[in-house]
Amino acid sequence: MTDGTEWTPIRAERGSGLRCKGWRQEALLRMLENVLENGENQKELIVYASLGKAARNWPAYRAIVRTLLELEEDETLVIQSGKPIGVFRTHARAPLVVMANCNLVGRWATSEHFYDLQEKGLIIWGGLTAAAWQYIGSQGVIQGTYEIFRSIARLRFGGDLRGRFVLTAGLGGMGGAQPLAGTLAEAAILCVEVPEDRIDKRIRAGYLQRKTDSLEEALDWIAEAIRARVPLSVGLLGNAAEIYPELAGRGVVPDIVTDQTSAHDLLYGYVPSGYTPARAAEVRASDPERLQADAGASVAREVEAMLAFKEAGAVVFDNGNNIRTQALKHGVAGAFEIDIFTEAFLRPLFARAIGPFRWIALSGDPADIRVIDDYILREFADNEIAVNWIRLAGAHVPVEGLPARIGWFGHGDRTRLALAVNRLVREGRLAGPVAFSRDHLDAGAMAHPNIMTERMKDGSDAVADWPLLNAMLNCSSMADLVAIHSGGGGYAGYMTSAGVTIVADGTIASDERLRTALDNDTGIGVLRYADAGYEASVDEAERKGIRRIKADGKADDNGRNELARTHEA
Ligand code: NAD
Repeated sequence: MTDGTEWTPIRAERGSGLRCKGWRQEALLRMLENVLENGENQKELIVYASLGKAARNWPAYRAIVRTLLELEEDETLVIQSGKPIGVFRTHARAPLVVMANCNLVGRWATSEHFYDLQEKGLIIWGGLTAAAWQYIGSQGVIQGTYEIFRSIARLRFGGDLRGRFVLTAGLGGMGGAQPLAGTLAEAAILCVEVPEDRIDKRIRAGYLQRKTDSLEEALDWIAEAIRARVPLSVGLLGNAAEIYPELAGRGVVPDIVTDQTSAHDLLYGYVPSGYTPARAAEVRASDPERLQADAGASVAREVEAMLAFKEAGAVVFDNGNNIRTQALKHGVAGAFEIDIFTEAFLRPLFARAIGPFRWIALSGDPADIRVIDDYILREFADNEIAVNWIRLAGAHVPVEGLPARIGWFGHGDRTRLALAVNRLVREGRLAGPVAFSRDHLDAGAMAHPNIMTERMKDGSDAVADWPLLNAMLNCSSMADLVAIHSGGGGYAGYMTSAGVTIVADGTIASDERLRTALDNDTGIGVLRYADAGYEASVDEAERKGIRRIKADGKADDNGRNELARTHEA
């Protein structure tokens, strides 16, 4: 772990002053600072997901900052697992930063080997957006969670979650978005969390309404909200491995059940029943096997309860934390009867490369986000997902760190929005440049057979070529930062993903970067799903002129096989 004594508090720079040699470099530096400003444990450089770090250690962080301050616009900084390695002369259209974080060779991609390398200071897990400097606080996943709830409402509850009870756990860096997503979907949501400071942090941030340490009081509040059909979020101080079985034992059946604790990591993440986080830290040091065994047994009890809720009629889903995988390893044979959220609720969106796009106002001025919100409401009026979300987010999602917005847009729309914003920057109608990025959990950017790519139509769940191609294509497409990540901790061996950031600094050059990188980033996403046999993706490619090559001997969709045949002849 990092020596906390090297820490000095980090807050992202605001305003129009440049510290670097250009806005592209300055943007990336502010984004790095911003992930730490929003992170869960800045002293340890931990941003979210229990171990997801922004940089290897404090000397590495400082060296990255120094290098960004000096970096010329025709140079590329190379980063390996959160540590800067070197600067290379490239050219002004090349990425300023490329990075590879936590990629282990197949047979060695195990959590044991990862922990060993981490201990030796040779590797970090970068989460998805932590080490790629793209984390924007809990709001990074809030629309995703909200769209899951909306989808469940449509599929199961006549389009309406008023009067419905959602049970979940975990109020950390990402899970902290759940209470606000729940109330935006108008449900009554109960969130179980072990340490009180996490509950307090979400209340302070405006994501959570009430807290209690009494299960009875929590259930009374929820029952009252259900009767009145009003939205409510309650943080309950407790352990999910105790509360879920207790509720199942009492015959309480929520309408929707999930969990977003750090169940993927039994050593650093999930707190076993009967433990405090401090006790978990002690046992981690003295007897790590015992801690993992206790955490595994607790996860198993929690998942047994989730299965009981499902049996009793609740909609139960895995919210992307590998809880089913851990439960299966610890003896719950039926764990995979629980659906994964991507396949169950969001795949039709991903198949059209509609996913978690985001933009960050580098000036620090929240008015910039409002100007962009207004633009979207005016110019994307026929995009129901965008308009509905921007209205809600504008009214209810608080600012965290540098003002930012998540917005699920697809192919073509991302580019259209980014070019319009670049124009606004150029015309001086925003206080400063804007960075565009996205979650790695996006159409072409992630292989994770237990989360993103579970049960793909063609069985290509574990093929990691796609995120690697995505990253290489983004480098060729003039993106400003490109990252390749694989899983660490409990995710070691489970995933590979790619991240991308492009800066709208108002220049004509950035028009070209934004157009090329954003079109190609979503373009390969559409083709990934088309290749897997999703009809909607084939249609999307055709409708939007994404050049798809079919290699099955039949005529291809864009008529280019004719050209290929001419060349062959
Ligand atoms: P985090 O480590 O910041 O927070 C996890 C929280 O769970 C902590 O506050 C911890 O105290 C709490 N917790 C641990 N054990 C508990 C227990 N037994 N009962 C109740 N609370 C408990 O992690 P995070 O960033 O919030 O991410 C949570 C999980 O979600 C991770 O596994 C992460 O990989 C996953 N994730 C999913 C998505 C997605 O798109 N669905 C996105 C990001 C993260």
